[in-house]
Amino acid sequence: MYYIDPHIHMISRTTDDYEALARMGCVAVSEPAFWAGFDRGSVECFRDYFRQLTEFEPKRASQFGIQHFTWLCINAKEAENVTLARQVIALIPEFLSRPNVLGIGEIGLNKNTRNEATVFLEHVELAVAHRQLILIHTPHLEDKYQGTRMILDMLCADSRIERQRVLVDHVEEHTVRDVLDAGFWAGMTLYPITKCTPARAADIIERYGPERLMVNSAGDWGVSKPTAVPDFIMEMRRRGHPESLIRRIVYDNPVAFFSQSPHFQLRSRA
Ligand SMILES: [Zn+2]
Repeated sequence: MYYIDPHIHMISRTTDDYEALARMGCVAVSEPAFWAGFDRGSVECFRDYFRQLTEFEPKRASQFGIQHFTWLCINAKEAENVTLARQVIALIPEFLSRPNVLGIGEIGLNKNTRNEATVFLEHVELAVAHRQLILIHTPHLEDKYQGTRMILDMLCADSRIERQRVLVDHVEEHTVRDVLDAGFWAGMTLYPITKCTPARAADIIERYGPERLMVNSAGDWGVSKPTAVPDFIMEMRRRGHPESLIRRIVYDNPVAFFSQSPHFQLRSRA
């Protein structure tokens, strides 16, 4: 089955991973900007990072027949340096016309601090001003519910936000309903340890249906599994779900959401 991984940090993965994804039917990946594993020292580091995401990584992906799309921002973990965050936000418009850029992301909260909220809202302003899609990271573990609520409240207070143009990622059982009920898209991250497993994601689909839901691997430098979406496909098949339902989650839904950006053009496979 062809599928799309809507959230994966391929700059931290090898060509072996690209090959495995391609063999399993992955036709496109979407790579949000994220933390480098250390705080970057200056805005010039972000300029280089954005060049990597918009120039080099699409070429690496294309060697394996995979289309590479990306999102730009400064991650919430670096938002405590508000001065640097503002310099990065001012830099981003230079890159928005690059052909693989889908929008602003992954923005959000990490420890739910005041500076994080400030930088989050300035990213939202940028997205509104340039009519960009938004991809949102919600915090981990004990901070998740409160952080998700804070994010939803900030977005819902702004009447300019078109909710069908926002994807809220890393939802779990206790946050998915709030996200969907408010009219946003929701992403479930399939991780070996924290976040969702393929079985929990399948349970959530069985409970809420496929509307505005997708799954991703969020593969990065840490313990993660870039082929987690195929694991989800297998789990859904094992439970006897029809191919049309599975395809909706792993292909049709990402296509529907991303197609709201004029930059998302999938190569024809006819
Ligand atoms: Zn991520």
